[in-house]
Amino acid sequence: MGLGCMKSVHLAAFPASMVAVSAYLAKAYPSWIQIQVNNEGHEVRVMEDLEPFTRDQIMNPVNIIKQKMPQGALQGLDSLSAIFQQFFVGASHLQNQQQEQVQDQNVLYGLAGKISKGGLLQSRIYNDLVKNLGLSLHQELKNKADEQATRDSDEGVRFRVFLSLQNYTSGMWLLLYNAHKAYKLAPDEFITSCCRRNIVGNPFILKDKQVNADMRQQTMVCTCAGPNRTQLRVDPFGIHILQCPNFGTPTRVHDTLVHMCVILLRTLGLAVSLEPIGLFDNVNADDNRRPDILIHNPYGEGQRVILDVAVTGVVGRSRCSDEDVDQPMRIRFNQKKAKYDHIARANGLTFIPAIFSHTGQIHDTIKGWMFNQIKMKMELHDPQVQSDKIKSVMRYWTGQLSAVINKTASRAILAVAANLVDKVNSTPPTASSSDQCEDIMDANQENAQRFMEDMELLVLNQDHTQSNLRSEG
Ligand SMILES: [Zn+2]
Repeated sequence: MGLGCMKSVHLAAFPASMVAVSAYLAKAYPSWIQIQVNNEGHEVRVMEDLEPFTRDQIMNPVNIIKQKMPQGALQGLDSLSAIFQQFFVGASHLQNQQQEQVQDQNVLYGLAGKISKGGLLQSRIYNDLVKNLGLSLHQELKNKADEQATRDSDEGVRFRVFLSLQNYTSGMWLLLYNAHKAYKLAPDEFITSCCRRNIVGNPFILKDKQVNADMRQQTMVCTCAGPNRTQLRVDPFGIHILQCPNFGTPTRVHDTLVHMCVILLRTLGLAVSLEPIGLFDNVNADDNRRPDILIHNPYGEGQRVILDVAVTGVVGRSRCSDEDVDQPMRIRFNQKKAKYDHIARANGLTFIPAIFSHTGQIHDTIKGWMFNQIKMKMELHDPQVQSDKIKSVMRYWTGQLSAVINKTASRAILAVAANLVDKVNSTPPTASSSDQCEDIMDANQENAQRFMEDMELLVLNQDHTQSNLRSEG
């Protein structure tokens, strides 16, 4: 199970371990649990009312689990007999009952695990619970976003980014134990990365209340939208920083990613040129279009391949639908195709847009192409190569790409955030202490009033607790 949600692990553990030891329980307490073998296999019978204390202990978590996930593994099981029967006896034949496989590319590429309904009771309950947690967080963020007047509110941005983080590649950097040393994270980078992964406000980005109104206009409000548009603001998640040309972040992430792609492609033994010049000048001498990567000898059909890398945002104007997380990448893909496809074909080249998003999504086309290159290279060396080996190389590649996107994006946010703090510090403060003070400690707030009213009681409590401690000590 690894490190996951402790609360869910805890809930799942008790009923599951009781089921696991039911054979021993039946031996030790034959009057309570009987396991008989008849024609249809094992039959478990539990005298429900014989051990009410134990029964309630098991049924409590069971009921909580059922409440959280009514359609889960425990659906319709209302007694100990039913639960033990289903999981003790059913465990063996359930495992053979393979679920109808959904043909997901990600399973094929080794990025996603196979979905099966079998498996241990504990992991099934745990998966149910975690799924439920995800669904309720989804709903909560959606509700908050819907309450706002505009889609560009912090809550709206948060919801869209949340959706764009739910995929098989965005979080891969977390699984990279042996990242290349260039992708190891400094402590502040790690904090920023975790904030990005969980879309919580970044502690290094100035909060609105830390800056007075004039200063805020100069630092936190961005001019990148142009003079007659609604001005954009540096949001607490750093999403604007990642998308804003003024900060230079998009280029930085793009360029680093291009270099990573070149390194990975060269490990396959491919001859790769970075930003080839004059690729199209036989068609038009003034043509200065320079795609990012040229591969002279790709595996498969002999035609040379050009890749052009793009890292899209996830909350921009190209995202019309919240739930359609691939929309920005798809739109960029089509734009790139329109820009290069025709001229590439005229030059005998295959053009492939390599589209990523700064949340770590990878567009299907480039994902599929990379997988095929890895596969063909490995099959060339060993025609009998196991598909698992190909998958693990693919996982390594996507992990590296995810780590590069994450690290450069997090570093960029940190750099800009530090810059904003410097900017604010370089002007003398004019804010009053009330603007800078934390809400909870504000002397003019309700909290403070209540604290003062309770003071007498608090003093009494303090003496009481301390005298207890002294007598115990
Ligand atoms: Zn901007």
